[in-house]
Amino acid sequence: MAIQRTLSILKPDATRRNLTGKINAVIEGTGLKIVAQKRLQLTQAQAEAFYAVHKERPFFGELVSFMISGPVVVQVLEGEDAVQKNRDIMGATNPKDAAPHTVRAQFAESIEANSVHGSDSAENAVNEIKFFFAEIEINA
Ligand code: UDP
Repeated sequence: MAIQRTLSILKPDATRRNLTGKINAVIEGTGLKIVAQKRLQLTQAQAEAFYAVHKERPFFGELVSFMISGPVVVQVLEGEDAVQKNRDIMGATNPKDAAPHTVRAQFAESIEANSVHGSDSAENAVNEIKFFFAEIEINA
């Protein structure tokens, strides 16, 4: 498997509870490298655009409100099989279903406030990284 990049977001429940360092330690423990990172307060329009794929889902409005309820940390992770490796360490969407060692099992508050986002395919990763970062900001 080649070196790959994926987009990760530490969500507002994680920044509010001062968990960014703990979550980054889990990410770095997998061998993935954080090659770009910034803390942002998303606007409603930005959150709606980022989650546009979910706009017909019943939870869309609440998800957008949650994602703008405080700052997020957006990051690019790089390494072998980065998309799947990050999905594995995130755990299931609902923390009740997440395997014990995962970020969501350890830290998530609920199915909505589940601490992290991670791209779910290589193709989505390319687009999600472009949404937040210029190439000059990504440094391995
Ligand atoms: N979400 C929610 N309610 C649900 C399903 C999802 O609030 O019933 C939120 C949750 O924050 C999740 C995000 O919407 O992380 C995107 O959902 P997706 O199904 O893509 O899950 P993920 O890929 O983040 O595990």
